[in-house]
Amino acid sequence: MDVDKEESMLLQKQLIADHYDRLTRAHDEGKKVVYTFVPGNLNELVRSFDLLPVLPEINALQSGMRKLSGEYIAEAEKQGHSEDVCTYVKCDIGMLKKGNLGPTGKPLPKPDLLLLSYTGCFTFMKWFELLRSEYGDVPVAMLHVPYQSNGRIEPHQREYVVEQLRTEVIPKLEQVSGNRFDIHRLRAMLQLSARAEDDLVWVLESAKRRPSPIDAYFGGGYYIGPIFSAFRGTSDAVDYYAALRREVEARIAASAGPITPDGPMTGEKYRLVVEGPPNWTSFREFWRMFHEEGAVVVASSYTKVGGLSARGFRHAPRHPLESLADYCLGCYTNLGLPSRVDLLESYIRDYAADGFLINSVKSCNSFSVGQLLMLRQLEVRTGLPGAFIESDLVDPRYFSAANIKNRIESYLQMLDQRSGAAA
Ligand code: SF4
Repeated sequence: MDVDKEESMLLQKQLIADHYDRLTRAHDEGKKVVYTFVPGNLNELVRSFDLLPVLPEINALQSGMRKLSGEYIAEAEKQGHSEDVCTYVKCDIGMLKKGNLGPTGKPLPKPDLLLLSYTGCFTFMKWFELLRSEYGDVPVAMLHVPYQSNGRIEPHQREYVVEQLRTEVIPKLEQVSGNRFDIHRLRAMLQLSARAEDDLVWVLESAKRRPSPIDAYFGGGYYIGPIFSAFRGTSDAVDYYAALRREVEARIAASAGPITPDGPMTGEKYRLVVEGPPNWTSFREFWRMFHEEGAVVVASSYTKVGGLSARGFRHAPRHPLESLADYCLGCYTNLGLPSRVDLLESYIRDYAADGFLINSVKSCNSFSVGQLLMLRQLEVRTGLPGAFIESDLVDPRYFSAANIKNRIESYLQMLDQRSGAAA
């Protein structure tokens, strides 16, 4: 079936394809590659050394959307990785064992550096331990990012991260790339990041309108792609977000709803906030369960997993290392539970949501821990009932379509009854 594609989607598809092509050619062309993770990534810093980033989570997500992940996960389990392990990790290990062809079918280069910016989730450290034992003698740089235990970034935490950037990360990047650190180049890239962030925030905030011109969870999953992955700090990302903004402006002018893979959504009936990552293996089917019922997601925590620019943060060329530190410290999964509940509560109020839903992914501790507690607290604070469903990131065995559809429909019916009773 044909999927409706806007200019921004085509741009993004091209960006991703070009990047994987560049990775395939990297070693032949004398380029070095750095494996690193999404939350709190140091993309501008990596690229300022002319290094190319590889993001294993993005490989796993893309493999999930392309229906390759089930086979990779089965391979990893055959090698002894338990059913409870994060399925991104198993998907990545299985892909490696089966020839390390990236999601576009082209070979991925071996890492020249494993850059562990350890933000929010202990699994990342274990993941790179596995990769280091698979790839042998690869240099490792580690950036330890402390949790925001007080609900704010303390000066000593920022200094601690900056000190590691100076003494650990930058020297390793210089060593691997053979290039000296160029602060002017980094500043120029951060300037581009801030421009892209301005447009992304504008797009996400457009969901405050009625009807919302975007879906901030399913559509939002696409919108955060370039900025949370390999493209932040590039003019390609600036162009992508400018194109996206133009599309959303046109939809607002036409009082139109979001574009879904099945076409434009009309008749917004329910406005929801969603907590937790999406399922990628049945992404379109999952989205359809919402848009067919007239349910649009107006805000989500997942679109903050790689940073909270929606709360005012911008990469700042005037304070390059400090702003990289703040970026890492500010990712959603680096926040404590009280901060997460506060954020979701503010979304429910600011975006005039009718309800909220938690998609719990058991194998992702970073998100799933405390979600039932969050559900109860949000119900008490907002007076709205919440819904709780379970699925997985990229393991197709854990997407039970009938069960999930049933839950969503019952929940929306309950919202109907409440609004009927209140009328
Ligand atoms: S457990 Fe969750 S946050 Fe951690 S690596 Fe896996 S998907 Fe990412």
